[in-house]
Amino acid sequence: MTTNMTMQRQKVMTINKTKGVSGSRKKPPVRRCVGCREMKNKAQLVRIVRNTDESGFAVDDTGKSAGRGAYICKDAACFKKAVKSGGFERSFKQKIPQEVYATLEDIIAHG
Ligand SMILES: [Zn+2]
Repeated sequence: MTTNMTMQRQKVMTINKTKGVSGSRKKPPVRRCVGCREMKNKAQLVRIVRNTDESGFAVDDTGKSAGRGAYICKDAACFKKAVKSGGFERSFKQKIPQEVYATLEDIIAHG
């Protein structure tokens, strides 16, 4: 009788363990790149944010600044596409200051 009890307990523990592993497997957050328009893992993208309070744009490397954001791959080809197609302007529905593009280009070029 004691042996049977032990076996049952082991079975329950195994089930719980399996459930825990699959439950912790989260999908990484994805955003659309304004250059290639593909959905990418946020970690591969740079975020441009329009600050809600001072109506200025900034390159947000923390990904946590408040305000409307747009994303682009850390890829020079995507940056060129976005500039050419006006992807950022379309995303924010307004012009982006030249220095923001310069900062962004620098980040993409040098990591
Ligand atoms: Zn891209």
